[in-house]
Amino acid sequence: MVNVIPRLSVAFLPKVFNTRYRLARMTNRYDRFGRVIRKMLFDGDDMIVVPQSGVAKRIDLDIEIEDAGQRNVVPSDVVKGVIDNSRDIFLMNFCLCRKSNHCKDYPADVGCIFIGKGTHRIPPEYGRFLTKEEANVFIDECDQMGLVHIIGRNKLDSIWLHTGDHHDLLTICNCCPCCCLWNMVRDINKDISAVYTRMEGASISMDADRCIGCGQCRDICFAKAVTIEGSKAVIDQDKCRVCGRCANICPKDAIEVTYDPSCVESEVQRILKLVNM
Ligand code: SF4
Ligand code: SF4
Ligand code: SF4
Repeated sequence: MVNVIPRLSVAFLPKVFNTRYRLARMTNRYDRFGRVIRKMLFDGDDMIVVPQSGVAKRIDLDIEIEDAGQRNVVPSDVVKGVIDNSRDIFLMNFCLCRKSNHCKDYPADVGCIFIGKGTHRIPPEYGRFLTKEEANVFIDECDQMGLVHIIGRNKLDSIWLHTGDHHDLLTICNCCPCCCLWNMVRDINKDISAVYTRMEGASISMDADRCIGCGQCRDICFAKAVTIEGSKAVIDQDKCRVCGRCANICPKDAIEVTYDPSCVESEVQRILKLVNM
């Protein structure tokens, strides 16, 4: 039977995309509404933000690395590690957020990857199945474009794609700072935004002496984790998901993002358990 729900979603979502922040704020204002939305759309979700590999520095730079296999580990190896342990890898030929928001800065034909048996219910004209090698090349291309990977189980995707049990679909988003639906974390109820976390071992710090208060880090932050106080940027560690964009844009190298390469494999294993492969 033809799966009509994704086709309806693709037709309908662009018309309501601009209401997303208002809806997010409503989950805060009306407690019961927030609980219903969490149950309906985010129940059991676990999404991890992967720091940009070109920006993040490993924490053990100054020690001798005994394990040669660890030497070149970068944050996006979390994504590649999941891909390497998966089958049924489906690449969408559009990003619904960029398409809905008419993105001017990033290509709308670069979409999410979905993994798991739920992929077989996605309308075939929405993309194609990839080999692991092709998927890993695609991840590198997204890195070069400056897109941020967000990986995990996201019930909302199994709903709009109508792929059945949300344990059957793993999402790898490749997100821009301007259009991503997940920018709602800045306004949404805390119980919902809590499903959306920084990668284990990732951290961020600020050298206030270098900061000139230009505000570029604040403007690019999807989580509204940065404020300018006096003439210095201040990062709210509770809100920051360590995506790395602010460190990338800072003209004074005042922000440092680090990651612990020894956490990469454990994150891969944790993510693999989220979904029935
Ligand atoms: S969540 Fe990110 S990759 Fe997924 S559709 Fe939205 S912007 Fe595109
Ligand atoms: S981008 Fe850099 S210099 Fe500008 S406010 Fe942020 S930390 Fe300071
Ligand atoms: S402060 Fe914002 S832009 Fe910077 S790493 Fe954290 S979430 Fe990303």
